[in-house]
Amino acid sequence: MFIETPLLESRALSERLGKSVWLKMEAMQPTGSFKARGISHACAVYKERGAKRFVSSSGGNAGLAVAYAGRKLGVPVRVVVPETTSERAKHLIGMEGAEVVVHGKSWDEANRFALASCTSADAFLHPFDDPLLWEGHATMIDEVARAGLTPDAVVLSVGGGGLLCGAVQGLRRNGWEDVPLIAVETEGADSYARSLAAGECVELQAITSIATSLGARRVCAESLSAAERRPITSVVVSDRQAVAGCIELLNEHRVVVEPACGASVAALDSGVEPLRAARNILLIVCGGVGTNVDQLKRWSADAG
Ligand SMILES: *Cc1c(COP(=O)(O)O)cnc(C)c1O
Repeated sequence: MFIETPLLESRALSERLGKSVWLKMEAMQPTGSFKARGISHACAVYKERGAKRFVSSSGGNAGLAVAYAGRKLGVPVRVVVPETTSERAKHLIGMEGAEVVVHGKSWDEANRFALASCTSADAFLHPFDDPLLWEGHATMIDEVARAGLTPDAVVLSVGGGGLLCGAVQGLRRNGWEDVPLIAVETEGADSYARSLAAGECVELQAITSIATSLGARRVCAESLSAAERRPITSVVVSDRQAVAGCIELLNEHRVVVEPACGASVAALDSGVEPLRAARNILLIVCGGVGTNVDQLKRWSADAG
C-alpha cells in the first residue's frame, strides 16, 4: 500500500555542503507523506484482528493516510476533524472515500469526540504513538540499506516522534545503532527539544509555528527514551528557515512539501557536530500535502 520511494543524491545540496546529501523521497508516497508506511501497516494489522472500521481525528497527513489505507483494505473510515480544518484537507480525505465528520472548535474536542464514538468494532489510529506505526515507518530505512547506502547521519523532522521512533527501529535492525540522528523541529513546535533539555516530557501550552504537522504539544515517551540509548541531536529552526528549505526543494528538485519537511532541509545548515563529521547525510523528505506553491510563495514574501 505504500511504495518504495526514490533515494536521490542531491547535487545541489551536496555541492552546497561539500558532502553527499541523499534524499529519501517520502513526499512521493501515494498520500504525499511517510505516514502511508506506518498507518498502512497498522491498519492491515487491525483489520486482521477484526476491526470493522478505522477512526482518526487528524485532518492532516495522518487522517489522509488512514482514509487511503481504509480504501485499499476495503474497510470504512471515519475522520473527525475540528471546524478549523481547511476545505482542501476535507476534500482530500473525502476523495479517499472516508466519512468526514466536523466536530468541535479545536483538535482536542474533535479527538475526544472521535474516541468517545468508537465502539469495540472500531480501531482508533493514533497519528504517532503506536508501535505498529513505528514498525511500518522503519521500512524506509530498510530500503536505504538495500540500496547500498550507509549514512553517517540521518536528518528528520519531529512532531510527536513517530517518524523518529520508526527510524530508530529501522537503524537498529540494520545494524546502525551508532549512526547519529538529527531531530528537527521549528520554534513554537519544539516539544521534543524542550523535553530533551528538561529530561522529561514537557507539554507545550500552544503551537505557534506554521509547521502544523510538527504541532504535537507533547511527544511520545518512546522518542525520549530512544535518546538515552542512541545518539540523537536536537535542532530547532525558525519558520522562516523552514520555508526557505521548502523553496530550495522546490527549485532544486521540483517538489512541494510542507514547512514540517522544509525544516529538515534547513537543519543541514545548523552546523551541529554530527553533520560536520558526516560524509553521507541521509535526509528524510517527509513531504506533506498541507501546502501549495502559492502558500509557499506568500510565506516566503512575508518573511521578506
Ligand atoms: C506527521 C508528520 C511529521 C511528524 O511526524 P511525527 O511522527 O509526528 O513525529 C512531519 N512531517 C510531515 C509532513 C508529517 O506528516
